[in-house]
Amino acid sequence: MAETSIRAFVVGHPIAHSRSPKIHRHWLEAFGIAGSYEAVDVAPAGLAAFVGGLNRQGFRGGNVTIPHKEGVFALAERRDEAAEEIGAVNTLWFEDGTLWGGNTDAHGFAANLDEYALDWDRNGPAVVLGAGGAARAVVHALKQRGIKDIRIVNRTLARARELGDRFGAGVSAHALGATGELLADAGLLVNTTALGMHGNEGLLADPALLPEKAIVTDIVYVPLETPLLAAAKAHGLKTVDGLGMLLHQAVPGFEHWFGKRPVVTPDLRASIVADLGAAA
Ligand code: NAP
Repeated sequence: MAETSIRAFVVGHPIAHSRSPKIHRHWLEAFGIAGSYEAVDVAPAGLAAFVGGLNRQGFRGGNVTIPHKEGVFALAERRDEAAEEIGAVNTLWFEDGTLWGGNTDAHGFAANLDEYALDWDRNGPAVVLGAGGAARAVVHALKQRGIKDIRIVNRTLARARELGDRFGAGVSAHALGATGELLADAGLLVNTTALGMHGNEGLLADPALLPEKAIVTDIVYVPLETPLLAAAKAHGLKTVDGLGMLLHQAVPGFEHWFGKRPVVTPDLRASIVADLGAAA
């Protein structure tokens, strides 16, 4: 029985912090599937060998996290449209012997807002704080959902401009100094910077400058209520935390490897919240 059980993985460096094993094992148990989901620590120098050996090791596929999302992009034989647009791969799977790379972060971001903030994509211009890898996934999701005015603000203006050039029409790049002005008529504010994580306190934008109908979301989920979300809440704005993005991005991968489409339930969320609390 053990020999036929389906194997999946998450690869990163380091990997001990990853919540993905807990998410996928929750679903394996819920479906009663005899499969495994393993955390694998691989340094950049070993990435190509790891990916090259997946088939031999009996892996059906897996997730890819920091710092390998760009490295695996180059190693996948085929890539889905989201991965091509974003320039990074977070999910690998085999299809008829071919290794596919996809990116489900944009799906996770949009599905989280769909769950908690109905009509978030019809609320006006979006301001995105940050221009790193996660910002690329967020901007892709915003464009896909038809938001016509996307304003990227970043400490390093050149990186914001790179993103603006990458995504083209409707995506503009700005320096931090312009944030107040950009917020005045915005319908959505998204933090994609590492600012707000435990040990990296600070606020890049004052939610009090937003219109009262605006929605504020942070993709950082440790802590669950970041300083930005706390400030937005205090100002009476609708807020959505970043944990749902992590949970929803996991759905398509599980379906590829294990053949069932899982659901993000309150039970799953509660078990990950408890895990985050225990680690804090
Ligand atoms: P990244 O590529 O390293 O980009 C980091 C971004 O944060 C850059 O725009 C950087 O600005 C900015 N930044 C960092 N420290 C800052 C500071 N002190 N002041 C102002 N700006 C600062 O990282 P990433 O992969 O995009 O990830 C960003 C965050 O998103 C991480 O916390 C990650 O855990 C989280 N994330 C969450 C999910 C989820 O599922 N919820 C998914 C992916 C990522 P510069 O360009 O000026 O350096």
